Amino acid sequence: MQKMQIIKTMSLALALLISPNIAHADWTIIHAGKLLATPGKAPVTNASIIIHNDKITEVKSGFVGEDSVDAGEENVTIIDLSDKFVLPGLIDSHVHLTSESNTPFNEGILESTEYQTVIGVKNAAITLQAGFTTVADLGSSTYSAYALRDAINEGLIQGPRILAAGASISVTGGHADPTNNLPDKWWGDRTDINISQCNGADDCRYRVRNLAKRGSDIIKITATGGVLSQQGRGLDQHFTQEEMIAIVETAHLLGLKVTAHAHGTEGIKAAIRAGIDSIEHSTIIDAEGARMARRAGTYLIPTLTAYYGVEIGVENGLFTPPVLAKIEAISKVRYEAFPNVFARGNKIAFGTDAGVFEHGLNALEFGRMVEASGMSAMTAIETATVNAADHLGVSDTVGTITAGKYADIIAVNGDPLADVTALEHVSFVMKGGEIAKSE
Ligand SMILES: [Zn+2]
Repeated sequence: MQKMQIIKTMSLALALLISPNIAHADWTIIHAGKLLATPGKAPVTNASIIIHNDKITEVKSGFVGEDSVDAGEENVTIIDLSDKFVLPGLIDSHVHLTSESNTPFNEGILESTEYQTVIGVKNAAITLQAGFTTVADLGSSTYSAYALRDAINEGLIQGPRILAAGASISVTGGHADPTNNLPDKWWGDRTDINISQCNGADDCRYRVRNLAKRGSDIIKITATGGVLSQQGRGLDQHFTQEEMIAIVETAHLLGLKVTAHAHGTEGIKAAIRAGIDSIEHSTIIDAEGARMARRAGTYLIPTLTAYYGVEIGVENGLFTPPVLAKIEAISKVRYEAFPNVFARGNKIAFGTDAGVFEHGLNALEFGRMVEASGMSAMTAIETATVNAADHLGVSDTVGTITAGKYADIIAVNGDPLADVTALEHVSFVMKGGEIAKSE
């Protein structure tokens, strides 16, 4: 016999905080007042999303009842979001779940991997509660991001789907070499820190293969210098062209994409020339670099909110002299390139660098993108759904509310197409058919 229940969402949300592994309904019907099923296409009014276990089976117009599914002996739950704006779960293609912002560099880096993993458990839950149902974790210590990803997939803890890079690959002494500027005595006998530096094409091939073996879903390299590391060798190209080509070739043979952190103009071009799939930050990209990215189909991930974290760090006196010098250099140009590359039609995917600022504030990026580039709210939402899914190679499972994809669905009050900052206050989150948040 078919049973039907109307969810008392508040009490369920409390139960989920206690037990993330709560069983989901067999069938769920969501009544959406406004539905933006595929960002880029117009939203519709009054629609029903039909979900079986963790997948969407159908989207119907109007509010349909439990008798519209062939449930047999299975349960049917109806969720009333008729006064909400419903859209696909958001995707942040650049986070560091195991890192905390507002931490002096020597404290953060010297935390044990075990402690960083616990930090990641906290931040994974916060990120999901903010409406981000998929993230790419682009740089963590050793196995921590893999452990988070696997524990979430097994239902042990709450969090978004994670594509984990594991450790970022850098040159010795480059951005992402954690031993920069620290006395050897601080390391003690730890062998788990300095694991992903490479020098020369063969060494770099080995690092890619090692990360693939450990369980990376994507390869992250730091092609140029970076702002918040202790290296004082500028913000342009660090890897040689030959090393980057070797990394890309090796990763692609193993079915992995490569994304490159890159700030400096020439480093960005060298990364694109090497066949890197996407450029994180892309801060000082020039017209030629933008043209090369368009021709190669290289995604750019602006991470504008990272500067918000940097500003807070400066206010709190967290940074050392080499870092302050780089902040000074980049603060003059940080928002200049993005409006230009957007206006020229470059492919943009949403990414924030959360961990450089407080986790859970990922949606601040929407307002910053709209303000900096003049893009529409709809386009900004596309970058965090359709585009980010394409960029990460997961369009077949997430990114739109479409039959066959995971039921990763969020809702907000108000209309994010009129005011994109509505996405900063997500009132409902479902991941894989399970409610993670309901207010
Ligand atoms: Zn980052």
